Amino acid sequence: MSILVTGGAGFIGSHTAIELLNAGKDIVIIDNFSNSKPDTLEATKKITGKDFKFYEINYLEKEKLEKVFEENNIEAVMNFAGFKAVGESVKKPLEYYTNNISGCLVLLETMKKYNVKKFVFSSSATVYGDPEKIPITEDCKTGGTTNPYGTTKLFIEQILKDLYTSDDSWDICILRYFNPVGAHESGLIGEEPKGIPNNLMPYVVRVASGELKELSIFGNDYDTPDGTGVRDYIHVVDLAKGHLAALNKLDKEGSGLYIYNLGTGTGYSVLDMVKAFEDITGNKVAYKIAPRRPGDIATCYSDPKKAKDELGWEAKKGIKEMCEDSWNFIQRKK
Ligand code: UDP
Repeated sequence: MSILVTGGAGFIGSHTAIELLNAGKDIVIIDNFSNSKPDTLEATKKITGKDFKFYEINYLEKEKLEKVFEENNIEAVMNFAGFKAVGESVKKPLEYYTNNISGCLVLLETMKKYNVKKFVFSSSATVYGDPEKIPITEDCKTGGTTNPYGTTKLFIEQILKDLYTSDDSWDICILRYFNPVGAHESGLIGEEPKGIPNNLMPYVVRVASGELKELSIFGNDYDTPDGTGVRDYIHVVDLAKGHLAALNKLDKEGSGLYIYNLGTGTGYSVLDMVKAFEDITGNKVAYKIAPRRPGDIATCYSDPKKAKDELGWEAKKGIKEMCEDSWNFIQRKK
């Protein structure tokens, strides 16, 4: 029996693949390298000393996807094959809706056809829009997403809820990620956004390494302790381990639909992150204060208690590992 990992060459998919392999699971990866590289698959093998089957396909290609289910004994699916750049999604909404939503629908239809009903879905804290309370609990209202990327996550969550209502033999876990950062401690895999990064941490490391001139801090007039935006940064390896915990929960409980925040419960401002990065790595990060970025909110951090109580999972790595591992990865790449 194997776990199908879609987007398994990507940032979060590859780190989760490593955790699954380390836990002794058989996996099959599909990826079309739209935002990832084949090297990551080699690194995954090197880090774990394990092998796995790989198909270079787009999950929208129904016939090819069906072949994967024909040729393997798939017991569960983890879906990481989504576009994820907020700014890009505003410019390319059709591409985002097609890839994320239609792709997920093809995947779910194929799962149904082959009677595979265990599904772990990568959702996002963006489904909370401007959160009704902080820290955010899973029962906070969702909606009011501010960009097409977030809306794809919101719609897929609804699709999964409707699917479960129609047939409660499905076994679904929705994981709402906060802000994944860091890299594998080996330095072999990490985040490699194409072009100029949108997210804070990849930008910070590229300023520190001299690749980019200076960081623009988007707004210092928010209602936060230092005026800059506050987020819940979580180390990608912790996040990956959360997926294993979710899978174990589904294996143990039988059918159900579960939703968990995957965050640390601690909020750091942009200036906190810059300062921590400078202190921990000894590198200066040049920055300037720039206008607010449209669609940004002031504060977003999780209440991680439900995941701790029900999954037995909590984030272990702190800001030190997040900064060190992000820096280590970019240094090794050079
Ligand atoms: N941010 C920033 N400069 C950048 C990128 C991000 O000041 O070049 C800020 C952003 O406004 C937010 C925080 O850093 O307050 C995290 O942004 P990111 O894009 O990493 O994640 P988001 O929370 O938007 O998904």
